[in-house]
Amino acid sequence: MTEDVEFLIVGCGPAGGVAAREAARAGVRTVVLEKDSVVGAKRVCAAGLRPGFCETFNLPRSLVHCDTPRLALFDLENREHEVFFGPGHTTTREELDGEIGRLAAAEGAEIRTGMLFRSYERSGDRTIVEYADLAAGGRKRISARNVFFAQGATVKLDGDERFGFDGWRDGLLTTLQYRVYPDTPAKAVAYQTLELHYYLAADGRQIVAWMFPKRDHLAIGLGVRGKMPGARLREELDTFERRVRERLYSGIPTTVKEEGHLLYGGHPRPRVASEGAMVGGTAAGLVDATNGEGIFEAAMSGRMAAAAVAQRRDAPAQASTQYGRNLQRRFFGRLEHRVKLMRYLEKRPARFGALFEDLSRRPRFAEALLLENHERRFGDRMFLWAQALRFAARAANA
Ligand SMILES: Cc1cc2nc3c(=O)[nH]c(=O)nc-3n(C[C@H](O)[C@H](O)[C@H](O)COP(=O)(O)OP(=O)(O)OC[C@H]3O[C@@H](n4cnc5c(N)ncnc54)[C@H](O)[C@@H]3O)c2cc1C
Repeated sequence: MTEDVEFLIVGCGPAGGVAAREAARAGVRTVVLEKDSVVGAKRVCAAGLRPGFCETFNLPRSLVHCDTPRLALFDLENREHEVFFGPGHTTTREELDGEIGRLAAAEGAEIRTGMLFRSYERSGDRTIVEYADLAAGGRKRISARNVFFAQGATVKLDGDERFGFDGWRDGLLTTLQYRVYPDTPAKAVAYQTLELHYYLAADGRQIVAWMFPKRDHLAIGLGVRGKMPGARLREELDTFERRVRERLYSGIPTTVKEEGHLLYGGHPRPRVASEGAMVGGTAAGLVDATNGEGIFEAAMSGRMAAAAVAQRRDAPAQASTQYGRNLQRRFFGRLEHRVKLMRYLEKRPARFGALFEDLSRRPRFAEALLLENHERRFGDRMFLWAQALRFAARAANA
């Protein structure tokens, strides 16, 4: 007998965890398959959160390591442009994903760790999923009325006739990050700031690098589109880390832990829903191409999947249609625009500096840009258009 559940979730990152918590809270019988043995323990991430994240997802403020009202944008010439916002926050994924997983379990979701998703097929009104039990060994099958795929950037949907997307590989970035633990605290400003740096690698490719502060360490990392051999990537990160050290913790002994993962920074997946199956979070391409933000989008996609499943219990096959429509309406316009903006800036990297100057001189421009589409009023849209035209005129000469 194949086990049968109402809602099956693959992956317990922010997308899967929020979906599980909110579906279970609505009374939906929910099972999560997570390949890692401890939720969140292996996530590589700078874990910067947008303002209001904990309140939006009803999470305890104790997760927050640093409140970061200051965004420091560094251009090609290593000039710093400051923008005040929010404040944003930082945390670690061990804590964030672990807490969301615990809250999901407390609502009644069954989280099965050490379970590796392998394949799925549609059969009648069910989706049958096959997975490997990594601890006990052997393969198992489970059938579900609705499945939410939330495996992050390593998702394998290339040859999938429903969700396959030729542009997926073009959007992948290789990243490397150091967790730098200084023996004594770095300069105070480090703990109030999210730093983003846009410059060129030794081979001329665009690099996006960051310094995000935590209570006991600084997450210092970088990403580059496509592949870069490990040794070259490490050289780039060493050079960048030296630059950060000179400004923020010069002369302080440190312990360093290295970690790497794939990041996605391309177009959203054109199809994210098909009868009984939904794709969310980074697996759906929901990452801001200009800055790598994807935790908020992932968590929100989980909320939307849970809402669709809970609202369509009488007609489960329609949940995916509702999810796909709502997700596209909410995120695709902005994320597509961010991909275009990033490619435009990368074409002539001096344009980054022109944009950052505008952002730091006009706080209202930065505020309007940070808003979600649905939060922008008519006046914000007009203002943004005017700023965009100004910037385009300046950038043409950059
Ligand atoms: C270096 C780096 C820095 C980043 N910094 C930030 C940041 O500061 N702020 C921000 O908002 N975003 C950041 N991001 C992006 C952010 O990490 C992602 O957008 C976010 O994690 C997406 O959440 P998710 O739930 O979709 O996927 P993930 O968080 O990737 O979770 C996927 C889950 O699925 C599990 N899984 C994968 N394959 C399988 C399988 N076959 N079977 C079962 N389980 C599986 C994984 O173990 C994991 O638990 C960063 C990413 C990287 C790589």
